[in-house]
Amino acid sequence: MIDLHCHLDLYPDPAAVIARCVERKTYVLSITTVPKAYRHTHRLALGAGRIRTALGLHPQLAATRTSEMGLFEELLPSTSFVGEIGLDGSYEHRSTLSVQRAVFQDIMDLCGRAGGKTISIHSRAAVNEVLQTIAPYASSCRLVLHWFVGTPRQVARAAEMGCWFSVGPAMLTSARGRASVAAMPPSRILPESDGPFGSLDGEALNPWDAWLMVAQLADLWNKQEDEVGRAMFQNFRSLLTFDTAA
Ligand code: MN
Repeated sequence: MIDLHCHLDLYPDPAAVIARCVERKTYVLSITTVPKAYRHTHRLALGAGRIRTALGLHPQLAATRTSEMGLFEELLPSTSFVGEIGLDGSYEHRSTLSVQRAVFQDIMDLCGRAGGKTISIHSRAAVNEVLQTIAPYASSCRLVLHWFVGTPRQVARAAEMGCWFSVGPAMLTSARGRASVAAMPPSRILPESDGPFGSLDGEALNPWDAWLMVAQLADLWNKQEDEVGRAMFQNFRSLLTFDTAA
């Protein structure tokens, strides 16, 4: 199983979740929301060969954590994975958009200069601006749009740019989410849980629950579940090889 966007450090008992990921042979991209959480979160998963930790500064926290940009820059050479970063233009966060923009642009510049980073990107209520910001970095980094809800035109623009899409069970329960996923190229989709924030029927999703999206995609595409599951692994392999040290 694969979960390309999960906040392992934010579960009540991260060690227990990680132990179950190991048992279930689940590949996880462990996402952080502030640079200060990176070292600790990376250490949590040291014994788990299928887990990689990403260095992030979440747009909803960017305004209060600008002071951690120095630490971000210091830590960046130690990982190939970046996220969660991006922009959030929703009602609760639009007042900080100018700071969010500065932080997001700085991080993309750092990643572009370093090259070879795989980046998990948040774009809630800011799709066009996110696409415009990341476009210059599509050749130097692998861009993964997380929970991307866009019009078919916006999805097509992202796909032409070379973006990947991480899609979860919660996203596929809404009509807008399903319409966005229906427009995505099947070869660019990967599973995500966004746990513990991502939930289904009021229950926080665990990393292995990201795989529930396989049945939902099979339904959407009118394909067999095992065929879709194999496709997700194939997509995962073409995005990256978790076997290399990072
Ligand atoms: Mn997230």
